[in-house]
Amino acid sequence: MVAGKENREEIEGEDVRIGLECHAQLLTKSKLFCGCSTDYRGAEPNTHCCEVCLGLPGALPVVNEQALKFALKVALALNCDIQPKTLFYRKNYFYPDLPRGFQISQYDFPIALNGYLSIESDGVERKIRIRRVHLEEDPGKLVYPGSITTAKYVLVDYNRSGVPLVEIVTEPDLRSPREARIFLAKLRSILEYLGVFNGDLEGAMRVDANISLGGGERVEVKNISSLKGVERALAFEITRQRNFLRRGQSIQQETRFYDEERGITVAMRTKEFEQDYRYFPEPDLVPIQISAELVDALKAEIPEMPDEKMRRFLRQYALTREQAKALTEDIFVADFYEAVASEIDARFAATWVADVLKGELNYRGMSMREALKRVSPENFVRLLKMLRSGEIAERAAVEILREMLDRGGSPEEILRRKHLKRLSSAEIEHAVDEVISEHAKAVSDFKAGKKEALNFLVGQVLKKTRGRADPKEARNILAQKLQ
Ligand code: ZN
Ligand code: MN
Repeated sequence: MVAGKENREEIEGEDVRIGLECHAQLLTKSKLFCGCSTDYRGAEPNTHCCEVCLGLPGALPVVNEQALKFALKVALALNCDIQPKTLFYRKNYFYPDLPRGFQISQYDFPIALNGYLSIESDGVERKIRIRRVHLEEDPGKLVYPGSITTAKYVLVDYNRSGVPLVEIVTEPDLRSPREARIFLAKLRSILEYLGVFNGDLEGAMRVDANISLGGGERVEVKNISSLKGVERALAFEITRQRNFLRRGQSIQQETRFYDEERGITVAMRTKEFEQDYRYFPEPDLVPIQISAELVDALKAEIPEMPDEKMRRFLRQYALTREQAKALTEDIFVADFYEAVASEIDARFAATWVADVLKGELNYRGMSMREALKRVSPENFVRLLKMLRSGEIAERAAVEILREMLDRGGSPEEILRRKHLKRLSSAEIEHAVDEVISEHAKAVSDFKAGKKEALNFLVGQVLKKTRGRADPKEARNILAQKLQ
């Protein structure tokens, strides 16, 4: 029952309705209701805690103003209506990751309503409606020694407890797992453009997805923690539901969890209803009035967003649409590109950033944010200038870039250390002579009219010179000698 690419039709039917609840950690220095540091990754468990985020009796929460401003910016970037009055509520449920027995969240009076996010799906622009945006605190983290199914006990780490989350809830406007992935990638891009989120951090975005087919009951899949996971979980779930319907069975409303390792969804419990949470206003926090002045001030701080930037790149740098898109999906790539393009031909720079650099990053599973620790725009410009001046061949430029990404260093230093300077014509000629004498068969094939033999011989010259020869030059010298 694994859903693969081959049954795209089945998992993208017109009857598919998908809605998402996305939780993103906001990049504040302290937690949502106390002064504890949010920089807890890698720290000893339960060392970033105080009486507030541990839920000790009598401890009083205080709202983090920065978190509120960040969430308001997110809502504005998603074209939402900011609500003039917003309120925190207690969402009651009993679970060991929740030390108070309730989560401070929002219910009626969220910070914003009725927005949208535009995505491009199969070349068509689609507006995905945003139902609401609200703020809430992250629960602690449960750690199951071994795996969730075999663990004999569970450990709780409250370092994460109280970290601010912005929750973004969509209407059920998504029509396929693929669209859900595109939506989340775009959302992540916008959050990073706003500077309120770091998608590189483990667990920084967690998604609950609900799916229904043909107007039937909704099934919710909880706590999916990667973009790929969302697409896979949804594909699996749609196939599972279709098989049910095919057998004449009906879908029950329920909550399932996604088992990332096995790539399947597993029944957790029949769906709880809203009243089970016994929401009521948090008596320890006063309602917050959001002034028009604050909203205007925050609006003024919103930077150029990805779609706008793409349109500007198209105009300003005369790029292809694919390149402009590839260069603006990630704010760190966009900024890097602009720094490079200010020093060297913009289209040449686009090829090297959008195609070569991004390709190398993909291959490594490395983000641009991470790569910046090793490759600065200045070093990248110097590398491209070495290539343009003919000091190095293209293959050597790629090799230097790889070394920069893997170990760091300046292009000049790597060039010297790895002896990648481009060979002179005399040196290439020498290599050509050797190749001709070593490959008599290919030489005679070529002379007998087999044109492909030349490609083989050029390949041998490049191999012998470890990419330091210019391929065109090697080909010319070879062709001359074989006449
Ligand atoms: Zn605390
Ligand atoms: Mn939530």
